[in-house]
Amino acid sequence: MNSQEYIQEIITQVEKRNPNEVEFNHAVKEVLNSLEPYFNRNPHLINKGILERIVEPERQIYFRVAWLDDLGKVQVNRGFRVQFNSALGPYKGGLRFHPSVNQSIIKFLGFEQIFKNALTTLPMGGGKGGSDFDPKGKSDNEIMRFCQAFMSELYRHIGSDVDVPAGDIGVGAREIGYMYGYYKKIQNLHTQGVLTGKGILYGGSLVRTQATGYGLVYFVENMLNDINETFKNKQVVVSGSGNVAIYAIEKAQSLGAKVIACSDSNGYIYDKNGLDLNVIKKIKEVNRGRISDYLIDIPNATYVEGFRNIWSIPCDIALPCATQDELDLDGAQQLVKNGCKIVAEGANMPCTQEAVNYFLKHYVYFGPGKAANAGGVATSGLEMSQNSLRLSWTFEEVDQKLKQIMNEIYQSAKTTAVNYNDPNNLVLGANIAGFNKVAQAMLAQGIL
Ligand code: NDP
Repeated sequence: MNSQEYIQEIITQVEKRNPNEVEFNHAVKEVLNSLEPYFNRNPHLINKGILERIVEPERQIYFRVAWLDDLGKVQVNRGFRVQFNSALGPYKGGLRFHPSVNQSIIKFLGFEQIFKNALTTLPMGGGKGGSDFDPKGKSDNEIMRFCQAFMSELYRHIGSDVDVPAGDIGVGAREIGYMYGYYKKIQNLHTQGVLTGKGILYGGSLVRTQATGYGLVYFVENMLNDINETFKNKQVVVSGSGNVAIYAIEKAQSLGAKVIACSDSNGYIYDKNGLDLNVIKKIKEVNRGRISDYLIDIPNATYVEGFRNIWSIPCDIALPCATQDELDLDGAQQLVKNGCKIVAEGANMPCTQEAVNYFLKHYVYFGPGKAANAGGVATSGLEMSQNSLRLSWTFEEVDQKLKQIMNEIYQSAKTTAVNYNDPNNLVLGANIAGFNKVAQAMLAQGIL
């Protein structure tokens, strides 16, 4: 059997075993299809059962989360944790609270996380979890009761050397705080390394809040550097206005870029003078409001309903930082038509496969999420190190380490792409570089 037949056989098997799991099948296809040159060079790996095992989670946990709302009514949500692959270290990956969460989404995120974590060079396996709980419109007490109910089941499956969750969409410092507090109470154990993204006062790391957005911009700096450019005076469009988007905007602005648009799930704002980040932080981090509120402070800006049209704004660099599948072929065509040179994914799989193919074909330099947004989990890894050492590093120390890791991730993806004779294809570079590490570790550990 040759590489192509082997890969096709596994993709067919995954589709058959996981019908209706659209996002998971997409993620598997995206990774496996780029591994053909790798197996061509390493044909002896075809009969080692690596792909067969890597597409199947080591363990999946699925549980009921019952909690009382403010009216005293019983609410029931679904909780998920997928422990996908532990070849390189304890399972590591965030928790997402969003009504769209289902098994397919958690599996796609967990699968991506395996390779992303491998690229950071830190000893972390891949996992992901969450719930279909919708935090929007819930009171602080409801959020706390939900987090406690969620942890009352999750606690038995996690641990600092077993599985270390963190935040993701809908899960920030507040939610991590409530979950960590409850874990500590029911376990009677201050084991800080069990969750990352904690508050600074109880084991959190400086820079964790900024890490994914900053890391994305450090990654793009490397891309720009390779084409003899910098962020200075570049027009940048960022989608989303959550954790990743806000800190990507902050770092890009500090490097001289003009960020002219961002969005939330209702629509986008366009400010030709450059976004005022303090206003956005007030809306999203303090008031937990809608991005349309930007016009209250900056009436000269424009608000447009519908978040997908943000890609019609002419820009040099586009950073999709909201959610999966938010940038489709239509968006990609508009970006190319308007002369966009670089697209890098702050979110997980925000570009559809058609959009990615279109970028590659039209020489847009494309940074895939599993490399470009790995700064968050890398800094989570640094938080775990500080917890083990019982030390806290300064902001500058952590930021420096983050920057170095992002540079190394870029170099690893780029060198691999060059090595495989496709120098501008960072999708291929990142997938092969990440996969190779996990595959070697799996081989060394025997059939598990
Ligand atoms: P947040 O919850 O802080 O923000 C999410 C942003 O995306 C909000 O602006 C939200 O708008 C918007 N959004 C969410 N869902 C949708 C949707 N279905 N359609 C349109 N817009 C939507 O999440 P993060 O910033 O933490 O995460 C953003 C992305 O980055 C996710 O893909 C996540 O997996 C990925 N990521 C996050 C990391 C982290 O460290 N936080 C690390 C690596 C990747 P609204 O407020 O209206 O819901």
